[in-house]
Amino acid sequence: MTARTLNLDDSLYQYLLDVSLRETPLLKRLRDETQALPMARWQIAPEQGQFLALLVKLTGARRLLEVGTFTGYSALCMASALPEDGSLICCDIPGDYNATARRYWQEAGLAGRIDLRLVPALETLAELERQGQGGQFDLIFIDADKANYPSYLEHALRLLRVGGLAVFDNTLWSGRVLEENSESADTRAIQALNRALKDDLRVDLSLLPIGDGLTLCRKR
Ligand code: CA
Repeated sequence: MTARTLNLDDSLYQYLLDVSLRETPLLKRLRDETQALPMARWQIAPEQGQFLALLVKLTGARRLLEVGTFTGYSALCMASALPEDGSLICCDIPGDYNATARRYWQEAGLAGRIDLRLVPALETLAELERQGQGGQFDLIFIDADKANYPSYLEHALRLLRVGGLAVFDNTLWSGRVLEENSESADTRAIQALNRALKDDLRVDLSLLPIGDGLTLCRKR
């Protein structure tokens, strides 16, 4: 027994899922359908989806924002955890997968809570700020183009209320965060975000090794 985070092998990871994952048949079907797509790796892990839903309930969040929606799995998880009057704005770009997301949200009876906006996320975020929605969001999940992560952080800090939560996915980036002098703009952006957050006194911080790394930033 050591006082460090476990390195999960396949059987221990399967055990974790066996004893704790409560994925609904609808979510499982969406995940299976997404697995067949060329961009299947964009899908979050199911235990991450369940964790996001728990975060929504723990924080009592009512106004959610998502940057990077894909086939809508994380949005479905979070929207299902919202109270009746809760809402979720999703940012993505036009793609065949938008229809998949909408179809599952409809089937779950949650389409009315979700507003999918199909323009580059930076435009939607800037528009929300122009509309005076700064400080109005409780939780923002960010899982989109990594090169813009540092910019998404700045928008998130303006759009979140004090005590609100920004959640970044892929902050361990399959271990590529360890690369020095990476030629990948995505890798460099995640490294820059991680380094900057360490000393960013605007947030309380935790990087969880769930999925590909999930960073929680609570706005102070
Ligand atoms: Ca991701």
